[in-house]
Amino acid sequence: MKFTDFDLKSTLQQAIEEAGFKEPSPVQKDAIPLILDGHDIIAQAQTGTGKTAAFGLPMMHNMRADGSVEGLVIVPTRELAMQVSDELYRFGKLSGLKTATVYGGTAYNKQIERIKQASIVVATPGRLQDLLESGRIKMNPSVVVLDEADEMLDMGFLDEIKNIFTFMPDKRQTLMFSATMPKSIRRLAEEILDKPKTISITKAESTNENITQLYYVVQDRERDDALVRLIDYKNPNKCIIFCRMKKEVDRLVSHLTSQGFKVSGLHGDMEQKQREVTIRGFKQGGIDIFVATDVASRGLDVNDVTHVFNYHIPFDSESYVHRIGRTGRAGNKGEAITLVTPNELRTIKRIEKDVGAKMLTQVIPTRQEVQNSKSDELIAKIASTKITEDAIMLVKTLQHDLDIVTIAHLLASNLQANHNVKGRDIIGLGLQEIELLIERAMKSRGNDRGNGRNRRRRSSGGNDRNRSRNRSGGGHRGSRDRKPRND
Ligand code: ADP
Ligand code: MG
Repeated sequence: MKFTDFDLKSTLQQAIEEAGFKEPSPVQKDAIPLILDGHDIIAQAQTGTGKTAAFGLPMMHNMRADGSVEGLVIVPTRELAMQVSDELYRFGKLSGLKTATVYGGTAYNKQIERIKQASIVVATPGRLQDLLESGRIKMNPSVVVLDEADEMLDMGFLDEIKNIFTFMPDKRQTLMFSATMPKSIRRLAEEILDKPKTISITKAESTNENITQLYYVVQDRERDDALVRLIDYKNPNKCIIFCRMKKEVDRLVSHLTSQGFKVSGLHGDMEQKQREVTIRGFKQGGIDIFVATDVASRGLDVNDVTHVFNYHIPFDSESYVHRIGRTGRAGNKGEAITLVTPNELRTIKRIEKDVGAKMLTQVIPTRQEVQNSKSDELIAKIASTKITEDAIMLVKTLQHDLDIVTIAHLLASNLQANHNVKGRDIIGLGLQEIELLIERAMKSRGNDRGNGRNRRRRSSGGNDRNRSRNRSGGGHRGSRDRKPRND
């Protein structure tokens, strides 16, 4: 199927071509014809599946570009508002459609001015409610889109959303997109949608198969070492590391910086300007590693993120899905890596079941293993290097004093100096230990579900803790069975 199969007007077709889109994604295939036919829709599809174009293109097809607000898109965060706005601008500019981006934390007047000229408004719920309630703006959009609806409810925006809809015309088309479909979303849908068509990108497609999901079992105090070792080993092009708290973001940023990585943090407290600069640095490649909290990174659309690390396992399956959806975008391959402690094994197993994807557990490579893989890389790189004139001159000069083998050794040592792997040799638990722990975790699962007190008592109980500390202590290291690597 091609984009030309939809009956979209020529200025949109041209924009699609310029964007380099060849084939519609599954959610685009399903949603575009239904939206063009005027239906309300509720669509479930994961992040990175092209939802913006799925609603944006058909919405723009019917617009008159007469300077009135014809479409309203409500999104959870400022970042997402800017991204969606950029993407829509890209499609709409040839059709003369202007977009206005509306979010909190900046001056009102400029935003209001832009809204007055815009055909499409992309807004976060708080500021939009503000503007509507105070009567500073009026709009009569024929299409209203709720993007990432589950995120908005998670962030506590239900009241704002309901309130916003009291300002919307009764005669409208409403489109709702969400990565997950909890009850709260269905309830909201019943309220604001009119005889909606349901789109659900089937399970197999919605778990993004381009993402390999791995987890490593470590003790809590080993997280930093494990992270650095894995970054060393995986050698990501760009990666995002997710933390639970801002404090942790700051701490990790300084730790990783001290280890020589190009890293930057992103969290909710940052100034808007600073956030934009940071995100741009990440997109353009000056920064290789982003350390972020969930909220700060919602919707972050950077296409060449090769790895997502969960420094801490997220609290629920939904945020796991959202986090790992930052990689494997636009058809690229990605890896999602989660660090878990023995106590968190049950949680990762539950998430595995919820998201219906296979997760693999692996052992953190030893210093030697990483060193070896770096040497292999180096050898391959050397073998494929073109010999330059300058290099020939350099060797000639060196040959005045040294024989050729010594020169080779010296040059190799020089190269190798940048490839030293730091840290303790062995980090985390071995495979046999992990399997044993998983077995135990699964057995005890039925007993303590939903009973926090019980669970806490168990995990901090003297016996259990001592045993697991022994097992992961120095003495037992010899028995660690390392899985042979084939990657
Ligand atoms: P979502 O909202 O589902 O998370 P986006 O709409 O942000 O996804 O799209 C993710 C990325 O994929 C964007 O960079 C977008 O330009 C790109 N994209 C969307 N649809 C297509 C397509 N049909 N072909 C190629 N790239 C696409
Ligand atoms: Mg989106």
